[in-house]
Amino acid sequence: MLQDKMGRKFHYLRLSITDVCNFKCTYCLPDGYQCDTPRDFLSTAEIGNLVSTFAKLGTSKIRITGGEPALRKDLPQIIKLCREQAGITDVALTTNGFNLERNIAKWVKAGLTSLNVSIDSLDPNMFNAITGHDKLKSILAGLDKAQQLGLKKIKINAVLMRQYNGNDVQTYIDWLKDKPYTLRFIELMQTGDNLQFFKQNHISGTDIKQSLLQQAWSPVIRDKSAGPAEEFYHPDYQGRVGLIMPYSKDFCATCNRLRISALGKLHLCLFSEAGIDIRQYLQDEQQQPELMQLLQSYLGDKAPSHYLQQGITGGTQHLAMLGG
Ligand code: SAM
Ligand code: SF4
Repeated sequence: MLQDKMGRKFHYLRLSITDVCNFKCTYCLPDGYQCDTPRDFLSTAEIGNLVSTFAKLGTSKIRITGGEPALRKDLPQIIKLCREQAGITDVALTTNGFNLERNIAKWVKAGLTSLNVSIDSLDPNMFNAITGHDKLKSILAGLDKAQQLGLKKIKINAVLMRQYNGNDVQTYIDWLKDKPYTLRFIELMQTGDNLQFFKQNHISGTDIKQSLLQQAWSPVIRDKSAGPAEEFYHPDYQGRVGLIMPYSKDFCATCNRLRISALGKLHLCLFSEAGIDIRQYLQDEQQQPELMQLLQSYLGDKAPSHYLQQGITGGTQHLAMLGG
């Protein structure tokens, strides 16, 4: 089992398979993807070795992310090879949903167990203003399809932004009356590229939490591979509400996640200064014992907190570099 000096256990791996993205989210890639890094992303064989190594070290959940992971044509193979590893029980995908409607059936067939779709507004014009794409209708149709296919764990991510969707919290909550999704409000995080936008748009989730509790929403008990959200349920709503509050005091105390970049670098934190290159150990299965030892030793260097509160964003220019 991977464990750090603070006793935090790591069951959950976030695997970026590309840093390319086709959207231009205002808070992430407002000018679109800039092709300024190599595009020699991990191959399916390398991903197979990586996932097998982590599974042997106790990882049970893999989240495939990016950039936009659904831009990779071999996404179904990647889902399948993750799911086939002994010990991996949950294979999740975070996507902007641009081809969800067309491809969700293939992903579920390949073994996807959980889906996160980013929807920063339920209003088509606002959605377009935030992402640069008129795709909301198709994304919502894709979600219906995912539900019809029997996918049980469907989550929606919405980044809170004062000047965009800041007044839409109730609209989202009303939407959950008859939608069995978990809607997670994510506090906007500062990154190397977005300081001005962050200052103008960051909203704390604390007031939303108070208002949920006042409206008889109850906290859900976390399980060991749970994500970073504090979740709430209400008997009158099919859906749940989650709050991801990276600026709250104890956010890092429950960290159970490690990250791998699309070029094969281990990031001990979303906001670390740099990744540790492990790609050379992914070339054949014989290298697994050495990599397992190295991974255990690297965890000794995992910092207790991300220090975002002090405005320290490490080497992270934007979250498309590594996945959120
Ligand atoms: N392209 C996919 C998507 O948008 O779902 C996957 C990658 S994206 C980096 C993963 C998540 O990070 C998305 O839900 C996105 O909204 C969120 N995100 C990106 N930049 C962020 C920021 N600065 N603060 C908070 N969340 C952010
Ligand atoms: Fe692309 Fe996701 Fe970043 Fe939006 S949040 S620009 S969809 S990587």
